[in-house]
This record gives sequence, structure tokens and C-alpha cells, in this order.
Amino acid sequence: MTDDLFSEAVRRLDRAAEYARIDSEALLRLSSPRAVLEVSIPVRMDDGSLQVFRGYRVRHDDTRGPTKGGIRFHPDVNLSEVKALAFWMTCKCAVAGIPFGGAKGGVVVDPKSLSRLELERLSRGYVQAIADFIGPETDVPAPDVYTNAMIMGWMMDEYSVIRRRRMPDVITGKPIPLGGSLGRDDATGRGAYNCIRELQRIRGWNPTDLRVAVQGFGNAGQHVARLLAEDGCRIVAISDSRGGILRENGIDIPCAIRHKNSGQSVYSEQSVCGCPVCGEADCHCDEGPLSGSTLISNEELLELDVDLLIPAAMENQITSENAPRIRAPVIVEVANGPITPDADDILSSRGTLIVPDILANAGGVTVSYFEWVQNRTGDYWSTDTVRSRLQEIMSREFHAVYDRMTEQSIDMRTAAYAHAVSRLGEAIACQGTSHYFSASPVHS
Ligand code: GLU
Repeated sequence: MTDDLFSEAVRRLDRAAEYARIDSEALLRLSSPRAVLEVSIPVRMDDGSLQVFRGYRVRHDDTRGPTKGGIRFHPDVNLSEVKALAFWMTCKCAVAGIPFGGAKGGVVVDPKSLSRLELERLSRGYVQAIADFIGPETDVPAPDVYTNAMIMGWMMDEYSVIRRRRMPDVITGKPIPLGGSLGRDDATGRGAYNCIRELQRIRGWNPTDLRVAVQGFGNAGQHVARLLAEDGCRIVAISDSRGGILRENGIDIPCAIRHKNSGQSVYSEQSVCGCPVCGEADCHCDEGPLSGSTLISNEELLELDVDLLIPAAMENQITSENAPRIRAPVIVEVANGPITPDADDILSSRGTLIVPDILANAGGVTVSYFEWVQNRTGDYWSTDTVRSRLQEIMSREFHAVYDRMTEQSIDMRTAAYAHAVSRLGEAIACQGTSHYFSASPVHS
């Protein structure tokens, strides 16, 4: 198993360190995870057979607080990916200025192939396997790719059974009646939307002039598309794992969301490629979201001549191979790690503005932090309070990163890492570095 994704991810630190005051020992600490757990999860399947699934949980760094990060159920999960995702969580929490470190978990599984009961048994089995590794003051999981509020609810319940008391603060992204936070569901998309709004103000863009393409139509992709469409932006292309659609006049996003999320399965059986002419009573479109649209591939979507490109699917979508063909002048990374470092260099040298993942998708973990605070205090907030506190954090940190980018003449990703690294370095230095320990003793 190669460690490519993790080592590539960590290399970003070296560049950032040139622009931030950080001790080399702090960099050394951040270049390997604090703890890595690999587990096997035996699950009794509906047909009576036994399947054993592989799972991981990685805690990258806890200097700034308990580690925090989602759990992903996906066939491509591997240790290097989970380590990279945990590292990004450390940086993301530091960029957002919330008192958490970074972690991530994953199970190698195609969750769409499981029944509901199998999915519940797997979710509970995973928690049984990692129960000694997580906890409200050590490591707090959350949803990620192909995990949702219901799965978080099962996991919270399983942990509470193990600890023999109710512990909602062990996991975030739970259903509201089980201690979830209002406003958590759309928080990742909304945080990205807050960043785009700030960019609009700085650049003087008129939303109705913006043509947008969104790759990935899961939770984050749907909400950012919806919020932008509500502002009058034209969402000309959307896609999911099965392909995408392009409609020059703009896609009716509420219709596309309704279609995508219809069906009885835990996971959407519908693809945006099959959006019907809807004709539903509460539909805003006259002709249906698909009329006048063409089917395109995910690769074609990325290369469209749009004003704003939003990769909201998986990592490594824009590589050195397709980067020269990317035409959007602005990319907002709602997925984690959608652009490889090589591709990043190509795009940055061409002047593409990339709002990096550790800033653009920090809204999810920020509202997870709010959820954890609410669980621990027992004081529950209104949707308006959650949204305004999220907006305050996203706007403040967006401007801190943007200003650093302009002041230091660097790309926005380097600026975001430099911002994160200064906060991390400051926290690590409080515990003492070689400068402190090798200096002459205070009392001789
Ligand atoms: N999985 C999300 C992320 O990558 C949210 C993590 C969290 O809420 O802890 O940021």
C-alpha cells in the first residue's frame, strides 16, 4: 500500500511554512498522524453468511482540541486516503479557528449493495471496533461520503450502549430528534456558498451573470447549487457518479434535487442523468429541468467554459492530464482534495483562482462544532443562530486567507495552509520547542 496521497498532502506544509512563522519541530509533528487504527468488522448478512469488512480510524493531530472528522463508507477507502483526509481535517479546523484537531474514518464497502439492516449492523460493528479510540473529549466522528444522519444516530446509540449512558456528544451530524443541530444538514454547502458570496463582493460579480458547473450531487453539491440558484446564478451543469447534464438556460435545481433524492433506498437510486420532465405541482419550471439539456460525462463537466467550477465529489478529479483543459477562471473546492498538487501548479500558473477545500468546505465541521457545544451544554440554538454564526466564521476566515494571499502574493491554497499552520504552530509552540528547552534554565 503506497502512502502517496498522505505524503503529497503533507508536502503542502513545506510550502506554507515559507509564508508562516512556524517552528520546524511543529512541522515535524504534523507530518505523521498521532494514531492509526485498523479494524475488521464481522457482519452477519441477511442471507445468513458472514462478511468481514475492513475499517480505519486515524487521529492526525490533537494539539488544538479533540480530533474531529467524518466516517466514509466507500469501496475505494484505503489507509493512505484516510490519513490524508485526517490531515486535511487538522488544517480545516485550524483555518476555521474551531478548537478541534483532525481525524477521519472509513470502511471499505459499497454501501449501496447492503440492505438497511446490514447497513445498521455494519455501522454498529464499526463503532464496537473503534469504541476505545473515540470519545467526546478525544475524537468525535461525523458523516462523510455515503454516511448520513441516520447512520450517525445508530453510531451514537451503539456508543451509548457500550458506555452505558447516553452520549450524544460522541458524534455529530445526528438526526435532530437525537441531538443533532439545526442547520447541520446544509452546512457544508452553505459554508462554500458564504465563501462565494464574499468573493462576489470583492470581485463585484452580479450573481445573474454567473454560469456555474457542479460536479457531484450529494449533500454538499446539492445545497451549494440550491443556494446559488436561489441567488439567481445559472447552474448550467450538474453530475453524479453516473454522469451529468448540461443545460445552457440553467437547470431547475429544486427539481433535480427532488428527482435525485426520490426512491425508497437509503442511497439515491436516481441519477441526475435521468431527471424527468417533472410536472410536479410545486415545481417552479414550466418545461421540466431536463428539457433542452444534453448528457455529458464528469470529465466533460470539469472542462466546461463556465465562470465558476465546483468539484463536490471525490479527490483527484483534476490531474495534470486534464488541468490544461480546465477553462473555469474560479474553482471552489467543495470536495476534499479534488485537485492534485501537479494540477494545482498548472492551474495556479495560469491564474485560476482556487478557493481551497480546507476553507471552502469547512462549514460542515464548523456546524459539527456547534452541535458538539449544544450537546455538551444542553442549550439548543435556532436555525438562524446557527446560520449567522457559521456565516460570521466563514466570512472572517475567508477574508483572513484572501488578505494573506494578496499581501504575500501567493495562491489561495498556500495562504490557507499558512493561516492554518500559524495557528497550529502557535499551539504546538505553547508546549515548548527546542528553542525553549535548549535555552539556559530560568533557575540556575
Ligand atoms: N466530513 C466532513 C468534512 O470532511 C465533516 C466533518 C465533521 O463534521 O467533523 O469536513
